[in-house]
Amino acid sequence: TSFTSLPLDPRLLQAIATLNYSTPTPVQQSVIPPALEGKDILARAKTGSGKTAAYLLPILHRILTSQQDVNNANSNDGEGGSGGSAAATEALILVPTRELADQVYKVIEQYTTFCGKQITAVNIARNISDSIQQSLLLSHPKIVISTPSRAAIHFNTETLSLESLKYLVIDEADLILSYGHENDMQVLSGALPKGIQTFLMSATLTDDVEGLQKLFCRHPFVYKP
Ligand code: AMP
Repeated sequence: TSFTSLPLDPRLLQAIATLNYSTPTPVQQSVIPPALEGKDILARAKTGSGKTAAYLLPILHRILTSQQDVNNANSNDGEGGSGGSAAATEALILVPTRELADQVYKVIEQYTTFCGKQITAVNIARNISDSIQQSLLLSHPKIVISTPSRAAIHFNTETLSLESLKYLVIDEADLILSYGHENDMQVLSGALPKGIQTFLMSATLTDDVEGLQKLFCRHPFVYKP
């Protein structure tokens, strides 16, 4: 199977071609199709398996295609515009560490090279001040990458609105729990709109991760190699 057999937006396929990835990895091959249909995903996948693209590509595709109408009506791609569109955060990617947040941000940059300004992402897990985190969030990025604690803080102070959220990723879920983020995860789970699509990625599927699954997933498609 090649990437081009997956029903992904041509801009994403173009980026994949630029990266010289010819075939999807096993986790990508099995997870991307059900994810594109909107199913929740529970995947046992570790670093190196291609797990980041397994959740990012379906999310990017779905954001791009749901935006198509808006963009046909508003095709101005000029620099430094008024930025007046009523954008809202659609995807929240939770990661255990700053390092992983940096990596995920870079991968988003790679895949969105051909998407113009349609997809905006911020990484608030970086080593930056609270006020910079706030101003990043107030730009209403489509995608927010964060640790659970920072997301919970900004949710509590209403800097981060989860009202329009459509996609939630919990990446390296087993590590998130081992770093003691249970309370933050509880806070966030209570704030999510109904019917969002969840991606739960974990190197191991322990009882704790099963607890997260019960909290966040509805009848997920399960990938266990
Ligand atoms: P990850 O497991 O998401 O951290 O990805 C591990 C590495 O595999 C990263 O360096 C990616 O750039 C690379 N990668 C992801 N998908 C593919 C693919 N389909 N073919 C080749 N390399 C890939």
